Amino acid sequence: MGHDFEFVVVGQGLAGTAVAWQLCARGRRVLVLDRADPHAASRVAAGLITPYTGRRVARTWNLDHCFNIALGFYRHTQAETRAKFFHHAPALRLFADAAERDVARGKIDPTRFDRAINPAWFAAPHGGFDLTPAARLDTQTYLDAYRTLFQERRSYRTFDLDPAADVEPTATGVRLPRLGLTAGCVIFCEGAAGVGNPWFPQVPYNLAKGELLTVRVPGLGETRPVHRGVWLAPLGGETFLAGSTYDRDDLTPTPTAAGRATIEAGLREFLKLPFEVLDHRAGVRPVLRTTKPMLGVHPRWPGLALLTGLGSKGALYAPVYGAMLVNHLTDGRPIDTDVRLPAEVT
Ligand SMILES: Cc1cc2nc3c(=O)[nH]c(=O)nc-3n(C[C@H](O)[C@H](O)[C@H](O)COP(=O)(O)OP(=O)(O)OC[C@H]3O[C@@H](n4cnc5c(N)ncnc54)[C@H](O)[C@@H]3O)c2cc1C
Repeated sequence: MGHDFEFVVVGQGLAGTAVAWQLCARGRRVLVLDRADPHAASRVAAGLITPYTGRRVARTWNLDHCFNIALGFYRHTQAETRAKFFHHAPALRLFADAAERDVARGKIDPTRFDRAINPAWFAAPHGGFDLTPAARLDTQTYLDAYRTLFQERRSYRTFDLDPAADVEPTATGVRLPRLGLTAGCVIFCEGAAGVGNPWFPQVPYNLAKGELLTVRVPGLGETRPVHRGVWLAPLGGETFLAGSTYDRDDLTPTPTAAGRATIEAGLREFLKLPFEVLDHRAGVRPVLRTTKPMLGVHPRWPGLALLTGLGSKGALYAPVYGAMLVNHLTDGRPIDTDVRLPAEVT
């Protein structure tokens, strides 16, 4: 009671934005802190929501539940900010070989096969299928819209918090001396940067760097994101995003020649048109060994909480698990066991 803020959210990526939004929607007093790192995964991400991935045409975990909630969330947030950042439309998956097509045959409605694959643009001897439900979140526009909104509500500060030195949990909340304020609860939504957070050593990080390119492809009129090992996602006009790579050894946010070469080679396997690279970026995904999100409250200090592990699916998972954490913190509702923060270091 009597805290300057009921909640301080550390990080305004996809996780922190969803958490802060849920808290604001419940009328809670919130302060969002962000160090404005342009390499944060949410700033780099393509924002694709894809229902089936990989050679085994694996269905995304918990897709149906999460997609419906994400759809409602982004429609609502678009209306609130009067910005356009969510594009709900099918994507296209091209098969690399006959084996992939066989795998998909057992899983996908046959009427979705081989729709509108333009042979002038794509080499697709094994065909493909329409991926649905699918969507793309323009993460930069979304995050900027909410940063502005939080600023207007005096709920945002650019601040680089040191979790070890700046956070002092007490019996009733948390002191943040360098900010000169107290909070009922600090919610860490730090993404990959959380790997250095001493309050939550039990989180089983398995971070994965990713790189992507912005390319110009003159003459390509495809309006769907196209997946075939790498993906190509339309940004408008002749400009597309292309990605991405997975690297578990180099966890710097620096783009590499090898990453660029991997994406370019992947594109050339199916894209018949020449392209020009306009930009090249990298970020580190907050992947965990559980391959699922993770959320909960510190086992000893009830004023410290966390949402992480959005992995390569932050656009899909942030709305659902942001709401689950806030429902837990404000109403005591349970957190699903398969995403709950373990009490002990395992
Ligand atoms: C190349 C690439 C492509 C991707 N493509 C997709 C995609 O198509 N679809 C998809 O859904 N996901 C994609 N992802 C994954 C997606 O980016 C992540 O799931 C998501 O962004 C994670 O969000 P987050 O908020 O947990 O972490 P982050 O994005 O890392 O956000 C954390 C925020 O907190 C700030 N911060 C951290 N620590 C502190 C601190 N101590 N003090 C102050 N501020 C702090 C950071 O600066 C940052 O703004 C991609 C990722 C990469 C790298």
